Amino acid sequence: MDLFGHLSAYDFGEVHFKHDKASGLKAIVAVHDSRLGPALGGCRFLPYDSDEDAIIDALRLARGMTYKAALAGLPHGGGKSVLIRPKQHFDRVAMFRAFGNFIEDLRGHYITAEDSGTSLEDMEVIRTVTKHVTGVGPAHGGSGDPSPFTALGVRRGIEASVKYRMKRDSLDGIHVAVQGVGHVGYHLCKELHAQGAKISVADIDPLKAERAQREFGAVIVPLEQIFEIECDVIAPCALGSALNDTSIPRIKARIVAGAANNQLAQPRHGDDLHARGILYAPDYAINAGGLCNVAQEVIGYDAEKARDKTMKIFDTIFEISDRSEKTGTPTYRVADQLVEEKLAKISKSGVRAAAAQS
Ligand code: NAD
Repeated sequence: MDLFGHLSAYDFGEVHFKHDKASGLKAIVAVHDSRLGPALGGCRFLPYDSDEDAIIDALRLARGMTYKAALAGLPHGGGKSVLIRPKQHFDRVAMFRAFGNFIEDLRGHYITAEDSGTSLEDMEVIRTVTKHVTGVGPAHGGSGDPSPFTALGVRRGIEASVKYRMKRDSLDGIHVAVQGVGHVGYHLCKELHAQGAKISVADIDPLKAERAQREFGAVIVPLEQIFEIECDVIAPCALGSALNDTSIPRIKARIVAGAANNQLAQPRHGDDLHARGILYAPDYAINAGGLCNVAQEVIGYDAEKARDKTMKIFDTIFEISDRSEKTGTPTYRVADQLVEEKLAKISKSGVRAAAAQS
């Protein structure tokens, strides 16, 4: 594989590898950018078809973390780790302990957290050998489930979008269609209900949709209709690529603002939304509440401070919307520009971390 070609394509950065024969650990730590501070990002533990696939996943995800942390004004760079899940039997505790030792060797340059395939229990194992880990249990100073913070940030992003596009200061009576009422979608419905919003939901799991109906008076909509109902806001909170050639032409709402990662199937779909006059809150800008929460854990967990930081997502989404309108640039590109300007400023001044905080 053309490793340095891939690094160049993703603007890297540095990549660290570890193979621990005793436990079977095969780990990649990708640090995309650390100009704003130590890289923070989750640890994936999944099977991969090839080492190359695992490396590319780490590079892609770490780059995304740089953008998310920078836009949220956090003192962190972007990083991600990928552990290749063995096909044969393995000792999970031994493997995560070996991974913890690897992180310790990096001396805080990369801080890990939960991600797909890892759990609080894995973070607890890592904690026994290094302090450079977040997402541990509250009994050990951890921040717990990030979903309520992610949902709070999404609610703030919806409020900013509604204020910008509809000139309304409250969500009272605003109709929001939520696709996916799992961890974040459920808490988002709770937030919206508390603000007096009208809610429609769709979920492939009927029990989850029924819970939202029971607790928040949500109207259940067939899966294939959630993007085309008459409403004010579409909130994609299920899987990635929800905004694509099929869904975008059917949207009647004036705003799309939800929690899911990688909502645009391709960047050009951000242009399509813009061309249709639909205000899109860029995914990594609006869903950073969970990251604000774990970042607080790095410096000593304080739920109030994590909440204050998350509330500021309102300002970020409002600024993106305003700049988009004034320059005629789609919002997803405005978000990238804001991050790139911020990072370029540090490069010019040579000042790192604390001085660059917003
Ligand atoms: P989750 O798995 O708990 O919830 C996803 C829900 O979507 C599930 O209830 C599932 O049944 C439903 N779903 C799947 N496909 C669907 C479809 N086609 N139509 C309707 N519903 C469907 O996941 P989550 O933690 O709530 O995360 C949701 C999204 O937000 C993901 O894209 C995730 O990457 C992103 N995100 C989550 C967090 C967090 O704090 N959990 C933070 C940032 C971003």
